[in-house]
Amino acid sequence: MSDATQTLAKNYSQLFIGGEWVSPSTDSKIEIRSPHDQSVTGSAVLAEKADIDTAVDAAYTALKSGPWGKMTPEKRQAIIEHFVELHDAQVNEFAGLITSENGSPIWFTGMLQGLLKLQTESFLRAAKNVEWEIRQPTYTGEKVIRREPAGVVAAIIPWNVPQQSALIKIIPAMLAGCTVVLKPTPATALDSLALGELFKAAGLPDGVLNIVPAGREIGEYLISHPKVDKITFTGSTVAGKKIAAIAGSQMKRVSMELGGKAAAILLKDADIAAAVESLKFGAFVNSGQSCLAKTRVLAPREKYEQIVTALSEMVSALSIGNPFNAGNFIGPMASQQQYEKVRNYIQIGIQEGARLVTGGPELPTGEDLKDGWYIKPTLFADVHNQMRIAREEIFGPVLVVIPYDNIEEAVMIANDSEYGLCAAVYSADKEAALEISRYIDAGSISINGAFLDFDSPFGGYKKSGIGREAGIYGIEEFTELKALTL
Ligand code: NAD
Repeated sequence: MSDATQTLAKNYSQLFIGGEWVSPSTDSKIEIRSPHDQSVTGSAVLAEKADIDTAVDAAYTALKSGPWGKMTPEKRQAIIEHFVELHDAQVNEFAGLITSENGSPIWFTGMLQGLLKLQTESFLRAAKNVEWEIRQPTYTGEKVIRREPAGVVAAIIPWNVPQQSALIKIIPAMLAGCTVVLKPTPATALDSLALGELFKAAGLPDGVLNIVPAGREIGEYLISHPKVDKITFTGSTVAGKKIAAIAGSQMKRVSMELGGKAAAILLKDADIAAAVESLKFGAFVNSGQSCLAKTRVLAPREKYEQIVTALSEMVSALSIGNPFNAGNFIGPMASQQQYEKVRNYIQIGIQEGARLVTGGPELPTGEDLKDGWYIKPTLFADVHNQMRIAREEIFGPVLVVIPYDNIEEAVMIANDSEYGLCAAVYSADKEAALEISRYIDAGSISINGAFLDFDSPFGGYKKSGIGREAGIYGIEEFTELKALTL
């Protein structure tokens, strides 16, 4: 498994710890099954507590006595640059592997894997601008202010965009000089373990990155480990609260990227056709399994039926099927659990009295779909913001439309949510949209469907998270400040 240019492995019988492939302490493993037809596509071993101890010890040793801590930022950056070359040469292989793990449509995994080069290059640029050490006169003498590594990092990631979530944590952590124990979700263990091969080939010193797929209980053991200094977590708000409570009790540093229920406000002067086209991506990307999905459309009452009709045409035309067919915009849900959760929310919407415009609880038809976790893309209108389908994160292809009478009400509805990750505003007047964005409580706001920028901070207000990822902000999350007076 040492040649990084080989076809990516589909079966892992060992964990990546201390720069080596290590047999796990038990025979605990997972069969990876295709969400499209339930066929077995791979397998991976799972870490237990003893393996976490070994992985944290390896990260601790690499931090305290390995070459990583003594390397200049430039030398660390050179290793990451080498990793980018190796990783980018395998965009298509990784896209296929992730589609086989979580059923994300191949058009999406291909696009996202391609963008990861830009994400990592953004961190490399930012690292050159971090003031790692400044030396200045004081009234009485001299001072030095240093940014030092936060220590051993536990990085915990979800299944929906697994490798993007991994790299947006481990790259800035390593650029800051930290060492990392990465815990992916079992179902998407393969694409994380494959990173071990690439980082080893790029020359990363032993123990700087350790990869230990495991479930929740072992995740809790990892974050509670006394030698872990910093926790970086992406996942649900429910799990985030639990992890933050543990971190709080141990005074550990924590960054949290959690759930969302983003509002998309269409102003009266918005180009409806363009807004609806942008919401095809904005709401249904990754089959709706996206933290940034704009799942609450706020429509001005005077244009309401026109907007509902345009959305209905868009949603009912979404192609659904085998995620490996690039023509299918929507694939299956990633797991049976996710499938049942989303179907349940569709029933809840009907029971709450929302108008089912298109989609619904019936299974989509098609020979190809009968064994997969497929949900019909669904649109609910006449929704009010107190309904559960407007308040809770569904994480599937379900969009709701809520009418509003004036812009103050639109902003009030947008903010009447426990979440605050993303939002969108559509208007012919860009400056008016910018002005309204001042009053929206969300970390990232897209005007007229513009895509995210990798150099900008990403993270949530309210229960959508703590801290920011991406750019220089993402690197600083993995540092401690030390002040010296001379
Ligand atoms: P999840 O919270 O169930 O699990 C995420 C990860 O945390 C998994 O690796 C899981 O094993 C681990 N985990 C869960 N409970 C834990 C605990 N108590 N201690 C330690 N580890 C624990 O989430 P999921 O279903 O895998 O992912 C979907 C969620 O992730 C959605 O809410 C989505 O919005 C969110 N998400 C957020 C972002 C973001 O950037 N804000 C990005 C992607 C996904």
